[in-house]
Amino acid sequence: MKRYALLKTLVPVMRDSLVICNIGIPSQELFAIEDRDNHFYMLGSMGLCTSIALGLSLNTTKNVIALEGDGSMLMNLSTLATIGNRGPNNLFAVIIDNGSYGSTGDQASYTSAATSLAGIARAAGCERVVECDGDAAAKHLERALNEGQSTLIIAKVESGNEPVPVVPLHPVVLRERFRICVSH
Ligand SMILES: [Mg+2]
Repeated sequence: MKRYALLKTLVPVMRDSLVICNIGIPSQELFAIEDRDNHFYMLGSMGLCTSIALGLSLNTTKNVIALEGDGSMLMNLSTLATIGNRGPNNLFAVIIDNGSYGSTGDQASYTSAATSLAGIARAAGCERVVECDGDAAAKHLERALNEGQSTLIIAKVESGNEPVPVVPLHPVVLRERFRICVSH
C-alpha cells in the first residue's frame, strides 16, 4: 500500500474532524481523493504539520488530526516532547511513514534505516502510540476518535506518489473556509 491508498481509507473517518495535511504531494493526493472545507492543505512550513495541529487542538474542543509524514516529522521532533507533556486528548496524528521524502523525489529517510518514530514518540512521553501497516491505520484512528484518547499512529507504507495536480485553491480561500470550520 502506498500513501494514496492509505489516504483513501482515512477520508471517511476524518469527516467530522479538523484535518491538517502535510505540505506537498500528501496534500495534493488528499485534495484529489476528496476536497472538503475541513481539510487544511499546507502550502509551506515543512515540518510543522503536527505543530499546527497541536496549536489548533489547544484552542478548540473539536478533534484535530495531523496527516504527517516521516520526513516532515524528522524535521521537528521536539513537538513530540510538547505533545508528550502538554498534548490534549482531541489531538490525533497519522504519521504516514513511507521511509522517504516523497515530495522531493523519494530520497530515503532515516525511518527506512535505524530510526523508529514510534520509539522516539514513546520516549518523548506520548502515551498512546500505535505502529501499524497502512491498511490498519483507519481502524486505529476511528477507535482513537471514538474513545477520545489522543493517539499517534505511525502507518507504514511503501514509497511512491500518485500523479495528481497541485491544489488549485487560493491560500486566502483555503484559510477562510477552514476558519469557518474551526469556529462553527
Ligand atoms: Mg515520507
